[in-house]
Amino acid sequence: MHPSRRLVPVALAVLATFVPQARAAPADDGARVEKVADGVYVILHDNATEEWPHGNTGVVVGETGVLVVDSTYLPSRARADIALIRKLTDKPVRYLAYTHWHFDHNNGGIAYRQAFPAVDVVSARDTARYIELNAVWWSRRQAAPGSSHRKALAGLEAQLASGKDEKGQPLTTERRRALAADVEHRKRELEELADLHVVTPNLTFVDTLTLTLGRRRVELRNWGRGNSPEDVTVHVPDAQVLFTGDLVVQSPLPYPFASWPVSWVGVLQALDAHPATMLVPGHGPVLRDRTYLRQVRALLEASNARVEERLRAGRTLEQIQEEVTLDDVRRSCPAWTPASLDEDWRETVKSLVERSFRGVRGQG
Ligand SMILES: [Zn+2]
Repeated sequence: MHPSRRLVPVALAVLATFVPQARAAPADDGARVEKVADGVYVILHDNATEEWPHGNTGVVVGETGVLVVDSTYLPSRARADIALIRKLTDKPVRYLAYTHWHFDHNNGGIAYRQAFPAVDVVSARDTARYIELNAVWWSRRQAAPGSSHRKALAGLEAQLASGKDEKGQPLTTERRRALAADVEHRKRELEELADLHVVTPNLTFVDTLTLTLGRRRVELRNWGRGNSPEDVTVHVPDAQVLFTGDLVVQSPLPYPFASWPVSWVGVLQALDAHPATMLVPGHGPVLRDRTYLRQVRALLEASNARVEERLRAGRTLEQIQEEVTLDDVRRSCPAWTPASLDEDWRETVKSLVERSFRGVRGQG
């Protein structure tokens, strides 16, 4: 017998003895569970479509039940997350807490309400209204004939049918496969948005809220304007874990598109001094130090300062967007530097500069 053939059964026998004790973290074809601390997990997701991500989902297990942080962009993903959570614990989800109103963190809420009818859905007070209104608007807008989502889907389907990309170049086998997957994801997204059942939070608070899961305490705090009009962090003090929502995002770029970069800087300063040792961002990997948080803060500070400088020189928004590229700040963070992100970087900075342009003048 060839030596390599003998290795296979030996290796399998070794694995068989280890696997039952190893208890690998649950995963499926679109997500992976990572243990952050005892009874604290994050579910990291693949993107929902080539345009929209799912936010990270936090799972905090206590004696009396489970608190989940955020519920992803699509109900199908949230249902799959519930299946993963059931592999971690047989306790019911008692609370679903939202970090902010953006769709990629709460469209999936209906899955939790259906699986756990007694669940309390928790958010900052005004966020409850933003979730309800925006989800109704977004689902109706995108499901309507001629919507940007329907146009994007038609464009992808046309490329697939013609065998050529948008520049008229023939599709490679690999590109064709990716395009077929993009089309499937887009179709599912449209179906789910057209039939979206919006769950409005039923337990709201203004500044802080402490929830208990037996002896385990979970502290929610509303920091006000940062990445969104109300950004809530979820702290598990006994595990020293802080779920930050999109106040910290490494996807791999931050999301400043509808943000308040002036007050956001102050929030990140406060989080820098927070006692938690592990930060779970709204998107991207668990952070075990403050390096990335400081890089995001430096980006916001540079945008605010350079925009103000050009405002004083009487420049228009368009001129400032041309002039402020923040390329030097980009080079300070390795996650932001790959050339494949060039276009995303330009779009990100353009919208950040626009938000700074309003923010430093007290207009938003
Ligand atoms: Zn997000």
